[in-house]
Amino acid sequence: MKKIVILGSTGSIGKQALEIVRRFPDDFKVVGLAAHSKAEALADQIERYKPDYYYLADGKISVKGAKRLSSLEELASVDCDLVLCAVNGLDGLKPSLAALKNGTPLAAANKEALVCGGKLMWKTARENGSTIIPVDSEHSALWQCMIGENKASVKKMYITASGGALRDMPKSAIEKVKAKQALQHPIWNMGKKITIDSATLFNKGLEVIEAVKLFEIEPSQIDVLLHPQSIVHAMVQFNDNSFKASIAAPDMLLPIELALYYPDRGVNIISNLDFAKLKTLEFGSVDHDRFPCLKIALSALKAGDGACVAVSSADEVLVEKYLNDEIGFYDISDALERVLLKFGECRVESLDDVFALDAEVRKYLN
Ligand code: NDP
Ligand code: MG
Repeated sequence: MKKIVILGSTGSIGKQALEIVRRFPDDFKVVGLAAHSKAEALADQIERYKPDYYYLADGKISVKGAKRLSSLEELASVDCDLVLCAVNGLDGLKPSLAALKNGTPLAAANKEALVCGGKLMWKTARENGSTIIPVDSEHSALWQCMIGENKASVKKMYITASGGALRDMPKSAIEKVKAKQALQHPIWNMGKKITIDSATLFNKGLEVIEAVKLFEIEPSQIDVLLHPQSIVHAMVQFNDNSFKASIAAPDMLLPIELALYYPDRGVNIISNLDFAKLKTLEFGSVDHDRFPCLKIALSALKAGDGACVAVSSADEVLVEKYLNDEIGFYDISDALERVLLKFGECRVESLDDVFALDAEVRKYLN
């Protein structure tokens, strides 16, 4: 039985992880759960899964048998076999490092932590004999393609993009889209921040950076393909021009299950694919004019680690403003461009540097 801690258990990824635990109670013991402010939902989860520890950032609950800890880092450091980090934003970085420092394998759903501190995370993992298991679907797919392969044989990695809620809309219509409409993702049902990031395609930009940090490849070794069906999640091209693709029905339960059971595989938790009924699998390229955020993220990746932190932190602020109807759709990319110009050359060597730059960017945008 695997002892697991779930950071962000009341969110989209966290709830799906608990759904797997509910279906396979003999395989997992929940040791810790954490939420930000959904106190009632967390209390219900504690009642049901009986963890030893919990963390609630904001609010009060009265529960029996579980000890309240004072930070995500403290919860990520308890004795367990796996920490799933499914909080959103840079808040995920310190607890991810805490788990790795403790020698605990990290199932990394939180992509902002990898984007801003991926190098530090791998250094900490290696120094403490732990590892990072990807949960983001494209990265989980790349990770599966890499099983039994050598990094030196990789020519290029490809991640796919469904195109988000606004894929087929003209620019004149996109510029008027409010958050409510952008939140209607055609394929994935996810938290609000990542759903807006999917509509702007900044999510794909974050994922390109995430892939470079996770697989320690060169920025030139990764590309994005538009693939509306979201059946092929990623592909790896090898030096002999052969490709491996990872194919599955689009369902986050699969990458979560893979991470929870690693190094084993779970059972068929997601629906099957009937290839005879799959009429077409289409691939294309992203329209950078209608979706400028992806290019901005690619420029940040080329500029360096500081630029990646700057645009990721800026995007957290801008998406929040967009969700509150304070700014328009293309104000996000306009502001990201300004942030990249202003902070693109900043250097980040340490965790303190990351948080200092994050604070500066937030101040600049508020
Ligand atoms: P949600 O917004 O649905 O959930 C976030 C969770 O984190 C909630 O439980 C929230 O608590 C909790 N949380 C946030 N901040 C804190 C904090 N400071 N302390 C304690 N708990 C906190 O997000 P998602 O599940 O959609 O995404 C989580 C991460 O996974 C993101 O980084 C996202 O990019 C990544 N990801 C998500 C995918 C998806 O399908 N959803 C796919 C691939 C990656 P509360 O509910 O109380 O607010
Ligand atoms: Mg993804």
